[in-house]
This record gives sequence, structure tokens and C-alpha cells, in this order.
Amino acid sequence: GLVLDGVSAAYRGTPVLHEVDLTVDRGELLVVLGPSGAGKSTVLRVVAGLEPVTGGRVRIAGRDVTGSRPGRRNVSMVFQSYALFPHLSVAENIAFGLEVRDVPRRTARERARAAAESVGCAALLDRRPGQLSGGERQRVALARALVREPDVFLLDEPLSNLDLALRVEMRAELRALHDRLGATMVHVTHDQTEALVLADRIAVLRDGRVEQVGTPDEIWRTPATRFVARFVGSPA
Ligand code: ATP
Ligand code: MG
Repeated sequence: GLVLDGVSAAYRGTPVLHEVDLTVDRGELLVVLGPSGAGKSTVLRVVAGLEPVTGGRVRIAGRDVTGSRPGRRNVSMVFQSYALFPHLSVAENIAFGLEVRDVPRRTARERARAAAESVGCAALLDRRPGQLSGGERQRVALARALVREPDVFLLDEPLSNLDLALRVEMRAELRALHDRLGATMVHVTHDQTEALVLADRIAVLRDGRVEQVGTPDEIWRTPATRFVARFVGSPA
């Protein structure tokens, strides 16, 4: 699992996270829900080791990783913009996550194929990202995250570039993939419906603070604050 214990973070001296406490159990899908600027991406960046903390601790799979380099944390991040390499094939893009780890070429190819199969993009292995639709690109990005077999998956608004129909379809697929893998996932979104449909638990973030953590049902039925009620659109 993943534990954030009183985590604070700042950009050039301006605080953006204020003593954030979060626990994601092993195999749990936590959605971090909040408006633009709430600090959602920063939470993921801190977990991935891309931003330093100014206070608190981060633990991944029982290990305190606070202050350790990104390469020493076994996490995979998926971005809104996919961030695929345009000059590499899909197979090479997926295998890229392994090559920096000195996995032999042949093993890397086999694992890339297996990852592609598990997210339904095995037919695309020889194409380049420029020859893919948005939904296909997102599958490839997921496969690249999968191939590393990370302790924690970090997903930063991975569906927000897709049209509504595809978003709804990919939501269901993401949830199915999570269940199949028993993966520990933190999924960030500003979309209330996505959070309510996808999450085991939701953490509502506002101005760098956790406003409420609960199951979708709890958040919907018993919002702790007016902000939460308004943001998830709870009845009165
Ligand atoms: P969005 O939904 O728009 O992606 P977010 O919840 O992911 O928003 P963050 O990107 O974590 O929010 O940003 C939190 C705060 O930190 C915002 O006020 C933002 O302006 C600020 N911020 C983010 N990145 C930087 C940066 N590199 N330098 C300075 N300030 C930053
Ligand atoms: Mg963001």
C-alpha cells in the first residue's frame, strides 16, 4: 500500500499541500477528487518522488521512501497527455519502462506483449503513437505503466482527453483492470461521476488539504462540508 503521513509540499516557497494524510491499502483504488489547482497532481508528483516534501513522510509498500530518488520508487505514472515517444513503435514505447532497468531485450518484448494484451492493444504493437486514436494511446500508456509491475499506479486524469462515450467505456475498463490485477491505484480527477463510479474510496482535496475521505456512498450521502456537498452535487 501507500501512506502519506502529514505531507506538505511547496513550489518556490509557496505551500500547496498542507499536512496531507492519506492511506491507500494494497489492492485499493483511491480517487483523489478536487477542483483545478487543489493540488491533485502535486500529490502524485510527491509520491513519485518528482517533487520534494517540505514535511511529513511517504511510505510505499511498507518502505519509507521520503527523500529517495524517483528511480528508487517502484511506481508507474500515467498522464493526461499520454507522454508517448512519437519516434518509437508502440512495442518500444511499452518496453521503454523496462529498458532503463536492464531487462534483456527479449524478455522486455515478451513482457510488453503481455502488458499490451491485458489492456487490449496487442494489435497495435507495430504502429507509432501518431497512428493511434486517443483511446488507443491511453491503452498504450496503461500498458507501459503495467509492464513495470509497480507497487503503486498513479493516474493523473488519464481519461480527461477522451470524448464522453470513450471516457465511460475506459472507466469501466480501468476498473476491470484494477480488479483483475489487484493493483494499488491512486486515480486523480476533477470529474465527480468518474470518482463515484471508479473508487473504492474518494479523498476530496481542496486548496491542498484533504477535506473528506470516504467511500463513494459516504461522500455522496454524508458530505462532511458544504464544499464537498456542492462539489459532488449531493442532494441538498
Ligand atoms: P488541475 O486539475 O488543474 O490539474 P491540480 O489539482 O492537479 O490542478 P496542481 O497542479 O497540483 O493542481 O497545482 C496545485 C497548485 O500548485 C496550484 O496553485 C498551481 O498553480 C501550483 N503549481 C503547480 N505546479 C507548479 C509549478 N511547477 N510551479 C509553481 N506552482 C505550481
Ligand atoms: Mg493536475
